[in-house]
Order: sequence, then C-alpha cells, then structure tokens
Amino acid sequence: MRFEKIIGNESILKSLEDMVLADRINHALLFEGPAGIGKKYTAKVFSKSILCEDEVDKPCGICPQCKQFDSDSNPDFLFVEPIGDVIKKEQIQDLIEFLSIRPFDSKYKIALIESFDKATTEAQNAFLKTLEEGPDYGIIILLSENNKNILETVLSRVKSYYFAPIESSKIIEYLVDNYNITDKEANFYAKYSNGSIGLAIKMAKDPDFNEKRLKNLEIFHRALMGEKDFVLSEIKSFKDQDNIDLVLDMYLSWLRDLLIYKETKDRFYLYNSDLEKKLVGQSNLDYEFINYVKEKIIKLKSILKFNVNKDLALDLFFIDILEECQ
Ligand SMILES: [Zn+2]
Repeated sequence: MRFEKIIGNESILKSLEDMVLADRINHALLFEGPAGIGKKYTAKVFSKSILCEDEVDKPCGICPQCKQFDSDSNPDFLFVEPIGDVIKKEQIQDLIEFLSIRPFDSKYKIALIESFDKATTEAQNAFLKTLEEGPDYGIIILLSENNKNILETVLSRVKSYYFAPIESSKIIEYLVDNYNITDKEANFYAKYSNGSIGLAIKMAKDPDFNEKRLKNLEIFHRALMGEKDFVLSEIKSFKDQDNIDLVLDMYLSWLRDLLIYKETKDRFYLYNSDLEKKLVGQSNLDYEFINYVKEKIIKLKSILKFNVNKDLALDLFFIDILEECQ
C-alpha cells in the first residue's frame, strides 16, 4: 500500500503527500468522486502515512504502526461504513467517542467514513461540532460519491478534493501490466468502465464477464423491440444476478451507442462494437424513446441503492419499457 501504486489524480496525491511530510494536516477532509476510482485506497494510504513512525519514507510498511494498520488493528484508526445502506447517528456518536480519547501510539487519531453521502441528516448534524472544534490530534476523512446528499453545514467545514475518472490510457496500461489480457480486451474494459479503474479490474478478473454482457444486452435489445414474451421469460434470470447495477451500466452503454451511432454513423466510437449489427438495426429508435429509457435506468439505479423492493422495481422497469414500445 503506497502512494506510487495509485493511478490518476496525481495533483491530489501530491498535495496529500506534501501535507504528511510537512506535518501540516487538515483536520477534516472530504474525497468526492464516482465509485471505483481509488478514493478509499488513497484515504487508507494517506492515513497509514500519517500514523507511520518513519521520518521520511511514509508509509514505510515496516514500523509497528504500519504493521498494525495492515492487519486492521491500529488503535488510532477507525473505519466506519454504512450499515444496511445508511450511516446512523449512533455510528457517529461512537466515532466522536473514539476521537475523545487521546491517541495510543501516534500523534494523531484518524476516522475514515466511507459513503458519508449515506449518512442520515441526524447523523450529519451530530457531527458538526466535532468537525468544527474536534481535538487537535483528530483527523476526519469523509468519502462521498455525491455531495448533493451532504449538508451545506458539513461541506463548509471540510477541505474537499474531487477525484476525477481515470484516463483510458492509464487504465489500459494498468490492465495489460497486471492481468493476463490482450490490448484489445483492455481497451474494451477501459472504455466500458468510464474511468472507474475498480470496475475495469472487476471486469478483467471475471472470465465470464463477456458472456454475461452478451446475455444481458440480448434481453435489453429485445425489450427495446417490445418482445414481451421473450423478456418476461428471461426476467427471472435477470433478477437473480448479484450485480444489477453493473448490468444497468451495460444497458446505458447500449443506449449511448445507439445515440452515438445515430449521430455519427461511425462504429469507431461504439463501446459494444462487437454487436454493431444489432445496434445498427436498432438505430431507427427515436431520440425521445431512447432518452425516456435512459432516464428510467438512471432513476432505477438510484432507487436500487435504497431499501426498496428490488424485484418489484425491476418488474415495473421492464413493463414500462414494453408498454412504451406499443
Ligand atoms: Zn511505517
């Protein structure tokens, strides 16, 4: 676990490293950006560096602090994540208590909260005083995919860093260097992941990814044609998949391809270029319908993040599309 291993967002890494070396560290930081681009990994390397005993080589990886950190047992580090998709007030109260006790072995005590955008308003409010006037040794790092769900009063009390999606060329290089895949495959995953290195790695590691993509796009392609019987017969196998969010990303990639092909008539820009024939065949769908379906998917993605009846939401999604086709 080292800064050099992180891909992309170099200027943020530089400023975090400088902070650690100068020992002038902000007490409340927020890393915002899409999923899978290294926010959590960066926050962990940063935390480990702050707690590391070595004067220069931080994190050294061999001092007792680093070793405890690697085995998830550093007493001066607390990691908080949502329980059942929310961060509750009680979790923040535990965190405040953690920070109220002086550090054990280090100069600092660090609390890292994943998906702070899922904290309830109550939880966020409980946090304000600590953000403003926490102990000198306390450092709080918040991660978020969407700052819209974070109170203004919280945002104004933290130093924010925006993590941008990672450039395709860097993802390709990383995949080819680290996984047993060809340039062509790496290219495809890089395009498909939209700058999320985490997602690109997931795809590169899954030998069945392509088969799943083809099957899912077949269902979606037929749904857009209004083939009710086929879609209803496949809907169960669709719902049984564990990563519906990724499947919905595949659908979005299909709609994106349709829009691009309608505009350019050029296959070069297509994500799903291996399915060009089907895409071309469907490019007569009108803009209004494509955008209607796109909005439905975006909405579905966001409601699936909460505790809704997933099966029902997915049924309604397909029924809506099939009805709109008629
Ligand atoms: Zn160390």
